[in-house]
Amino acid sequence: MIIDAGTGIYSLGKRLVERGQKEIHLLISHTHWDHIHGFPHFAPLRESDVTVHLYSLANAHYSLKDILYGQQQEPFFPDPLDAVDADLHFTDLYEGQLWNTGTIEVQCRRLNHASYTSGFRLESAGKTFSYVSDTDLYGPRLHGEGMNTGSEDEKNQKRIELQKSALKLAQDTDLLVFDSFFLTNEYKDDWGHSKMEDAIRLGIEANARRIAFFHHAPSRSDDQLDELVMHYSAEVNRGTNLVAAAEGDHFVL
Ligand SMILES: [Zn+2]
Ligand SMILES: [Zn+2]
Repeated sequence: MIIDAGTGIYSLGKRLVERGQKEIHLLISHTHWDHIHGFPHFAPLRESDVTVHLYSLANAHYSLKDILYGQQQEPFFPDPLDAVDADLHFTDLYEGQLWNTGTIEVQCRRLNHASYTSGFRLESAGKTFSYVSDTDLYGPRLHGEGMNTGSEDEKNQKRIELQKSALKLAQDTDLLVFDSFFLTNEYKDDWGHSKMEDAIRLGIEANARRIAFFHHAPSRSDDQLDELVMHYSAEVNRGTNLVAAAEGDHFVL
C-alpha cells in the first residue's frame, strides 16, 4: 500500500521490483505535481506481470487515468502511459468510502485543499496509520472545488465537517502524518496548507500516539526541523512522540 507518487516512489519502485512484488495498491491524495511526478519513473510499471491498483477521490472534471496519461504526453515525457507493461486498474473513491484491500481497511475522506484532495486512514491488525496532507485544517477559507459556495452559515458548516473528517482519519491513530508546511508567522490563508501548531492540535484532539510533521516548506533546513520538533515536543500529550518525517524513515506501528 503506497500513498502518493512524488519523487520518493522512484527508489521505492526499484525495491518493489527487486523483491518481486506483483500486486501494488497506490492511493493518490490529489494530483498536484509534488504528489504524482514520480509516477512515470515507477519501475513496476515496466513489469508485465505486475498489477497496480490506483485509487483517488473522484474529480468532477478529470479521471485519475486522464490526468496521469496527460502527464506522460509529449513534450513532458517520452513514453506514453498506455505503453507501460503493468496492468493498471483505476478506482474512483467517494467521500467517506471504506474498503478492504487484503488485510488492510482503508478509509478516504476529503480535505480542505484545492481541487479534490483526500486523506487516508489505514487499519490492520489493530494498528492505524493516518495520512492527512495536503490541507488547511483550521484556516478561515474553503479551498476545494465546489466548496466555496452558499451562505456564510453553510460555509461554516462545511469547515466544521472537514475538520470532523480529519479527526475521523486521525482518531486514536498510531501514526499521524500531517501537513505542517507553515510556521505560525509564515501562514498564508490562500495556500491550502496547515501549520505545525495545527498538527499538535489535531494530534492532541485525536489522541495520536505519534505525530510526524510532513510536507515541509522547501526552505526548511534539517537543523530548523530538529529545533521545531524540540520546541513543539513540549506541547504534545505525555506519551506522544513527535518527529519530522524524512525520506527513507521507517516506523514500526
Ligand atoms: Zn497540493
Ligand atoms: Zn503537496
